[in-house]
Amino acid sequence: MATTTLPETEMIEPKPTTTKYVYFFGGGKADGNGKMKDELGGKGAGLAEMTNAGLPVPPGFTIQTDACREYMRHNAVSKDVDSQMDAALFRLESLQDQKLGKGDNPLLVSVRSGAKFSMPGMMDTILNLGLNDQSVEALARRANNPRFAYDSYRRLIQMFGNVVLDIEKSAFEEVFDSKKKQKKAKLDTDLDAKALKEVIEEYKKVVKKHTTHDFPQNPHQQLVLARDAVFRSWNNDRAKHYRRINNISDELGTAVNVQAMVFGNLGDTSGTGVGFTRNPAIGTKEFYGEFLMNAQGEDVVAGIRTPVPILELEKVMPNVYNQLRDITTRLEKHYRDMQDFEFTIQDGKLYMLQTRNGKRTGLAAVRVALQMVEEGLIKKEEAIFRVEPNQLYDFLVPRLDEKGVKIEVLAKGLPASPGAAVGQIVFTADEAVEMAGPSSQRKPVILVRAETTPEDIHGMEVAKGILTSRGGMTSHAAVVTRGMGKCCVAGAGDIDVDEKAREMRVKGQVFREGDWISLDGTTGRVIKGKLNTLDPSPDDEELQKFMSWADPYRTMKVRANADIPRDAIQARAFGAEGIGLCRTEHMFFGEQKIPHMRAMILANTEKDRRAALKKLLPMQRADFIGVFRAMDGLPVTIRTLDPPLHEFLPRREDLMVDIATLAHMDAKQKKSLVGKYRDYGAKAAGDLKKLMPALLSRVEQLHEFNPMLGHRGCRLGITYPEITEMQARAIFEAAVAVAKDGVKVFPEIMIPLIATVKEMANQAAIVHRVAKEVFEEKERTVEYLVGTMIELPRAALVADEIAKEAEFFSFGTNDLTQTTFGFSRDDVNKILPTYIEEGILKRDPFEVLDREGVGQLVKMATERGRKSRPNLKVGICGEHGGEPSSVEFCYQTGLNYVSCSPFRVLTARLAAAQAAAGEKMQGEAGRTK
Ligand code: PEP
Ligand code: MG
Repeated sequence: MATTTLPETEMIEPKPTTTKYVYFFGGGKADGNGKMKDELGGKGAGLAEMTNAGLPVPPGFTIQTDACREYMRHNAVSKDVDSQMDAALFRLESLQDQKLGKGDNPLLVSVRSGAKFSMPGMMDTILNLGLNDQSVEALARRANNPRFAYDSYRRLIQMFGNVVLDIEKSAFEEVFDSKKKQKKAKLDTDLDAKALKEVIEEYKKVVKKHTTHDFPQNPHQQLVLARDAVFRSWNNDRAKHYRRINNISDELGTAVNVQAMVFGNLGDTSGTGVGFTRNPAIGTKEFYGEFLMNAQGEDVVAGIRTPVPILELEKVMPNVYNQLRDITTRLEKHYRDMQDFEFTIQDGKLYMLQTRNGKRTGLAAVRVALQMVEEGLIKKEEAIFRVEPNQLYDFLVPRLDEKGVKIEVLAKGLPASPGAAVGQIVFTADEAVEMAGPSSQRKPVILVRAETTPEDIHGMEVAKGILTSRGGMTSHAAVVTRGMGKCCVAGAGDIDVDEKAREMRVKGQVFREGDWISLDGTTGRVIKGKLNTLDPSPDDEELQKFMSWADPYRTMKVRANADIPRDAIQARAFGAEGIGLCRTEHMFFGEQKIPHMRAMILANTEKDRRAALKKLLPMQRADFIGVFRAMDGLPVTIRTLDPPLHEFLPRREDLMVDIATLAHMDAKQKKSLVGKYRDYGAKAAGDLKKLMPALLSRVEQLHEFNPMLGHRGCRLGITYPEITEMQARAIFEAAVAVAKDGVKVFPEIMIPLIATVKEMANQAAIVHRVAKEVFEEKERTVEYLVGTMIELPRAALVADEIAKEAEFFSFGTNDLTQTTFGFSRDDVNKILPTYIEEGILKRDPFEVLDREGVGQLVKMATERGRKSRPNLKVGICGEHGGEPSSVEFCYQTGLNYVSCSPFRVLTARLAAAQAAAGEKMQGEAGRTK
């Protein structure tokens, strides 16, 4: 097993072909190099680079991604792939002076996936390939350890059976568990060589039963089948799902790495581990990781045994420890980024199995970027690309509110991914999905597992937080949640998770599905019950420093969508440079306002409507005063009333039911109905009989088949001009009032859902008239603008006309996406999953701006608008304003600002800075994927 490096002999060169499919590495040099991630995948490129750098890497070869793409097209690889693989195998055998699965010293290999972008645990791996009934005996003799040899063989049959032959894992687990029971073994390691030999025989029967064939004894056949299975695993459900949520193209394919096995489970001088050159959770500069002696890599990653901190290795094997530190330090310097590495120690000798840029939390990304600039490893302009804009959200994750509450800590696990999560327990991924419900009304659930596997990915995605009882900081749960920016406590060993009984037992207490717990992913505590969470503070010093490097590159402003003073203050703290959208309808839902709003809607005459609006005016003015004060010195864009009016009234169906059941109600029920209809004028039960039918008739009048395309937006203000009048008056009276107090106020009145210039002229005339009236009455003027939202394709087409009346544009890309695609933004989820699955759409266009279609309208409207009005201020206020790739598009299109929800302001700032810096630097300098 120990790798001996011999001179290359008897090389068989394949016939020259146009495509080089197979890249060899070993003997101190590699065919490929670290830059070839497209061809070799991240892992293959890393192995080539490490080999070239003279590091101790077990030799092998990489079958490049082209072969995978070929396999996906034809369900088979070409003869060239086969012949090049055979040649590489021969070269490997010669270098090792071993034969695959043959002779006294059989060569065994691992067959692993490795795509361009890391997809941890999503695809398949087969270890110990080459073992069969003969070679297992040779291995037993050579290692002088029959138990080890049989254990390796049974692992191969199990992995091969599952991955290549599609046999359920449980079929093997049942055999293994019943053998443990029969032998009264507590741990896997308690099974001796004889018992494992029996397990192997049983496993072979499982294979025969499920496939009608024997487990393949021919090592070469094993290799071919394993290679093809790894190619197929590119398209397994969990890999596809992972690619979708991480925006990785389905077209890339994976490479396959075939590498001589080294064994970490040969005894007490062997071991295996994983690590990071810095702490991936909090970014401190410390050698970080974990290892297990006498174990194989899968034991560490799968979390089957809880590993030991890597610093302990110094005590166990000081030489190996020092060598490892030396190598990983060199690797970090070489790649100029934090490394995530895997190693194996075989009989006291260290082998590096993998290195790659390590995934990290947002907190760690910022800290590591700052450190590396200070250490002179990277420049500031590179540092700003070392953080994905969405990762800044980590600085905004909530904390548990523990003040004044008695908390009961049930257990302490590892702080695997920071933040807090409070939710109801579920024990399987499917239940998590079911209980969490649709994304629009997602309920908080905590997924509790003994350990997570890649099959749990859909449940992890919907859960608020993850709790596992086994596994370390590099377990599947920890790695995946950090990538998702989701709170996770891992390896809470005191908790006994019984997934079958749907119970978790800890400290003598039993918790069942639906019980509430609170997780603190920053300290690793698991707390009983439902705690409140606290908003985070964004004033972290290191974050500020990082942003002070990024912001100067930014040319586009970032504003926030905020409707109330509290949100405006929050947005400003995150660095918002104004409000890009204040949705005034949200202001009418307050307890005191809604009755007047409803009275206004129910009014049959203009006179009654004006009377109700008069009551709303002072309340609306007070709201604006609060927002203006919060944004002193910055512009505030206020949109006039937009939604269809029926949204403020009871549902038609509910009213019908109430009318039908009124006659059968007792006094108590009637009393509660009076409460329900109080806003509509019900004072006593006797009022209901007349009031409810009248209300129903008004609701029916307002009823529309397609309200989103109906009586809403500027159409409301045109048909009921008194609404626009009242809102304009409230805005200007508020503006004048705060201006008199010395507040610098810049209102921008925005008219929604404009399609024609005449609509714009109609509403602008009202606003200008009211402004004049208020300024005369109050003897004070303020600067203001009147502009429009571009939310309809027609508006984009006639933007040059509209810009003659509108002093600014703001793209309402939520509605613009809805009206361009003809997708209902509220119902699209019925269609979207299939569209994404089928590759009809790559991303949800309501999340990521559709550059090809909607983007063209944005571009066209900006250009046409500026033709009429060269200084036209243009922004965006749809959800896309806080999504990094859409922000980049807005920058490229020449928008003046993006506006997004307060919690995305930091993300938008960094995305806008990266867009500008990227252009300046001609491309993205070393962005960490
Ligand atoms: C939009 O349509 O993009 C927009 C911001 O308005 P709303 O979401 O309120 O319709
Ligand atoms: Mg809209």
